[in-house]
Amino acid sequence: MAVKIGAETGVVGLFGDPIAHSISPQFQNAAFRALKLPLCYLAFQVKAEELSQAVAGARTLGFKGFNVTIPHKRAIITYLDEITPFAQKLGAVNTVKREGDRLIGYNTDGEGFIRSLTRCGFDSKGKVVLLLGAGGAARAVAYALAQEGAEQIVIANRTMEHALDLVSDLTAEGVQAAAINLSQLPSFAKVAQVIVNTSPVGMYPYEDAEPIIPSRLIEKEHLVCDLIYNPRPTRLLREARERGAETLDGLGMLVWQGALACEIWTGKLPPIEVLEDAAKSALAGE
Ligand code: NAP
Repeated sequence: MAVKIGAETGVVGLFGDPIAHSISPQFQNAAFRALKLPLCYLAFQVKAEELSQAVAGARTLGFKGFNVTIPHKRAIITYLDEITPFAQKLGAVNTVKREGDRLIGYNTDGEGFIRSLTRCGFDSKGKVVLLLGAGGAARAVAYALAQEGAEQIVIANRTMEHALDLVSDLTAEGVQAAAINLSQLPSFAKVAQVIVNTSPVGMYPYEDAEPIIPSRLIEKEHLVCDLIYNPRPTRLLREARERGAETLDGLGMLVWQGALACEIWTGKLPPIEVLEDAAKSALAGE
């Protein structure tokens, strides 16, 4: 059923570039319908140099809020009146809420990952986690895992300097963290209970790319997660299953970060199954 549009319909947006691939409109509109809210979610292609005008437009046009994605997650901070302590730590915002004249920035990516882990029955408390990649998604996941009480976070990255930057920020927060290069993966895979690919390696249209971690290092005791949701499963997760490991793809994180954003805008958490079904249909091109 389509959203019924009227003069009272509120607008929530997504600003990014590129934006055509996004499936957020499908699952956010499904969430609004499920909650019977007079809201509609639209994606806007906003180039890096146009962000200030887009934010001014959102203020003027009375948007309830908006999401931001690549390349705006850091740049948006300049245009906001306040950001949460978690978004401040990450230096990145993915959700903005308008409260009167004020724009408030949040980041729901890390909590989205944790909710997807919890939904598959996993508790990160006391666990050693091996993250592959040290970009924005790794940062969100690392801070969220640390908040959940993970014992140690090991960051393996192609560019050591980027891993060291993240580890130094985590350590300053009292988190036990270590940076390693990819040749050290054999020793660290052994001690980790969870392996998370936070890099785009294996993402459509390069789904045959060699995973960062060779499959021989994966054991059946591991939980292997991939933040990528297209394809499902990725080559990494296929190989992990063949090794007998449990796996988790990125669709859960995607819909949970969206559900949490919806809760920020509306005060209501939508039923997650509705978002999952809408996301799966959108990925299937339905
Ligand atoms: P990013 O900031 O650009 O970071 C990418 C990281 O991957 C960097 O550490 C980079 O290493 C590494 N990397 C990239 N290509 C590589 C390669 N060919 N070999 C080895 N390492 C490579 O990107 P991001 O924002 O963190 O996003 C990363 C992935 O997470 C994307 O696929 C994105 O779609 C996904 N993601 C999913 C969700 C979700 O809701 N499921 C949310 C956020 C992101 P260097 O430091 O050496 O450059």
